[in-house]
Amino acid sequence: MLFCSPNKLTASMQAGKEFYFMSNANNAKSKTTKIHKSDVNFSAFEKITEKEVYQIGSLSCLIGHIVYFIIFNLLNVPVLAGYNMFSMIFYVMLTYILTKVKRRSSFIFAALAEITVFACLSIRYVGWNKGFALFLIFILPIPFFMPLKKFSVPYILSAVIISIFTVMKTYMMNVESYYTFSDSINNAMYLMNIFFGAFILIYISSIYMVNREMMHLKIKAKNESLQKLASVDPLTQLFNRRAMMDFLKIIQSYSEESGNPYVIGLGDIDDFKHINDTYGHYAGDEILRNISEILTECVPSEGYVCRWGGEEFLFAVPSANCEAGKRIAENIIEKLRSKQFTIDEQKITATMTIGICEVAAGDDFEKHIIIADNRLYAGKHNGKNQVVTKD
Ligand code: GH3
Ligand code: MG
Ligand code: MG
Repeated sequence: MLFCSPNKLTASMQAGKEFYFMSNANNAKSKTTKIHKSDVNFSAFEKITEKEVYQIGSLSCLIGHIVYFIIFNLLNVPVLAGYNMFSMIFYVMLTYILTKVKRRSSFIFAALAEITVFACLSIRYVGWNKGFALFLIFILPIPFFMPLKKFSVPYILSAVIISIFTVMKTYMMNVESYYTFSDSINNAMYLMNIFFGAFILIYISSIYMVNREMMHLKIKAKNESLQKLASVDPLTQLFNRRAMMDFLKIIQSYSEESGNPYVIGLGDIDDFKHINDTYGHYAGDEILRNISEILTECVPSEGYVCRWGGEEFLFAVPSANCEAGKRIAENIIEKLRSKQFTIDEQKITATMTIGICEVAAGDDFEKHIIIADNRLYAGKHNGKNQVVTKD
């Protein structure tokens, strides 16, 4: 098991649970819930709206029909050239309409109908073997990607489209088409249709992939922010008691593995009620914030500090004995003694009493928190503003 490097927040999976490895929650301030850059950069797609996705599809169909219009003109097939003229107007209007309307699904159904009619007309006029029938297959996934209220709609549409395909296959296979071309034109047209069909599939698959990844990244960011909210005390930005209990479990199992003891310190601000009563609750809150910063400075980076209760703080340092804990606690008390807080032009001083307890490898930390608490109260009875390391 690894402990964190100073001032760095990393998340690690431990026994199926996600823990934050960091020295104190003040560091969590710098942690944002933004999508990580190291993840696949799908965030670039975040700005593309659903409307624009539909418009890209509509514009692609417009480009396709311009190409078919030119080809059928060159091949002298006026009916199909005419139909493509209609399709071009249809997609120009559709691209515009998609910017104006909110309920876009009926217009997408109209586009599906347009593609179906185009495929059937083309099969009838230039023959089955040009690959136009493939469009009927390529458009099958589209309704499945549309935000429809009824789940049955894509299946009904699929059944309709496959029925049309079957009817065309059954009746058009042996019916001679109105126009015939050389083999090279047949092959070129077949390849072109495969190309456009493949584009439809890649386009739809891309929408699915981007949507899925965006959803995944949003859920991840949300989870991280919820986890942070659940672990950090909003007033002091220190870890809360719940998060500390998780860290203590980690420290305990690390201690069992390494055989090293660790130290727990429980501190309580002296006469805090008096500070509140004299200077007001707001000043009391400011004192709590300032003292939290002092604790963060004094507890070494491999340790953890939390707001244990109202004006009580608990710190725990792995691979440290009672002497090390005493030094940390005396440093905290010394810094507090020499500090004068200025809040709303009032000069306020505060002191703290701290109980220290060393936990031997394999020992239960909850029992030792009670010992630290007893030492803290012994210090209170003995005049406050001191560190107690023995019973
Ligand atoms: P002792 O030296 O024995 O610890 O005395 P004390 O006055 O500090 O202890 P006591 O338990 O009597 O009072 C603690 C006070 O801390 C009471 C409570 O109103 C105050 N307190 C607890 N949480 C907060 C907080 O978030 N903000 C403020 N301003 N005060 C708080
Ligand atoms: Mg107190
Ligand atoms: Mg108290």
